[in-house]
Amino acid sequence: MTFDILFNEQLDKLKDDGNYRVFAQLERHTGKFPQASEHGQDEARDVTIWCSNDYLGMGHHPDVIAAMTRTAESCGTGAGGTRNISGNAIHHLALENELADLHGKESALLFTSGYVSNWAALSTLGARLPNAVILSDEGNHASMIEGIRHSKAQKVIWKHNDVEDLDRKLAALPANTTKIVAFESVYSMDGDICPMREIIEVAEKHGAMTYLDEVHAVGMYGPRGGGISEREGLADRITLIEGTLGKAYGVVGGYITGSEALCDFIRSFASGFIFTTALPPAVAAAAQTSIKHLKTSDVERKGQQAQVAQLRHKLDRAGIPHLMNKSHIIPVMIKDPVKTRMIADYLMEQYGIYVQPINYPTVPKGTERLRFTPGPCHTDADIDHLVNALSTLWKQCAVSHAVA
Ligand code: PMP
Repeated sequence: MTFDILFNEQLDKLKDDGNYRVFAQLERHTGKFPQASEHGQDEARDVTIWCSNDYLGMGHHPDVIAAMTRTAESCGTGAGGTRNISGNAIHHLALENELADLHGKESALLFTSGYVSNWAALSTLGARLPNAVILSDEGNHASMIEGIRHSKAQKVIWKHNDVEDLDRKLAALPANTTKIVAFESVYSMDGDICPMREIIEVAEKHGAMTYLDEVHAVGMYGPRGGGISEREGLADRITLIEGTLGKAYGVVGGYITGSEALCDFIRSFASGFIFTTALPPAVAAAAQTSIKHLKTSDVERKGQQAQVAQLRHKLDRAGIPHLMNKSHIIPVMIKDPVKTRMIADYLMEQYGIYVQPINYPTVPKGTERLRFTPGPCHTDADIDHLVNALSTLWKQCAVSHAVA
């Protein structure tokens, strides 16, 4: 008996709706990032990656590669168990100390990804704190939404970045609730940044905990890469800061930081921490090297900021509409799923430019886009090539010039 008919029914629906995901088949080459080979065709072709979350190219930094290689050679590949059962390596502890220091917190706790860290921490807080209510920004990432859902705590959604709405919703809650305000610093699809100070002030006024996802900001903002909370001098007023090691730090893994008691609580009760194999020590060593490097080096951050500014300027000059924000994420709005995919395909086939189309359900219908993330490794020539290609395709595909 085959069950494939059940799977295919739903897959066919995705395909009919234009929402079926096709992955580029990439082979990255050490030291050449953002150039890569794409193997989707009969013959591999050279492409420039324009949508990577290895935002600063740290996945190719010689010191990070050396730390990973050295540690794998000296300690083996896997951790060999959960943190509790034989998998706790000195490299994990060193990395947790590094992360606590990065955010000026007492303690930190590692997870196998940023997704797992959000899911595990929020499900544990929501399930175990007395009368917990989680107030979640409506733009929050799937990992936070799933964690909140799994906690079975009461959930209140507040309008995206709307502090007055948050204030009203906090005020309406009974005094005996444990209130947790969950939000992000940089939102990945629009690239907008939250009004962090105002959110903290409102949360403090109502005695609420703050849970901040800095996944798209760590490494890139703040004098030591501690994120927007470091840049704004607000980290000490946030209860829990969550981040990833897989984007600006160029490796993989996730973490939370906070007080010693908070991290011990999550360590002791979160199934997503307890019952899974720990990160390989080589990964932990590489991530620590990357964090250490970005604590003192501004070269990558400055390089990124320069290329972001240059791409924005050249898009403006070419009349290509993009969302204005104050982050490193440049969403070019196409607002049509078929054209978005078509332009992404043409960019790849005709120009060797790889950008993944972003369609519903990742973004609301009618806001389909190409999301560019320039980094310090993109050259001025890469930027010119991209803008020239977009200008040509804009005319060919008759895309609207309106942004909103
Ligand atoms: N939070 C946000 C806001 C994200 O965008 C993502 C992933 N893109 C995650 C968490 C999950 O992080 P990771 O990729 O390390 O699992």
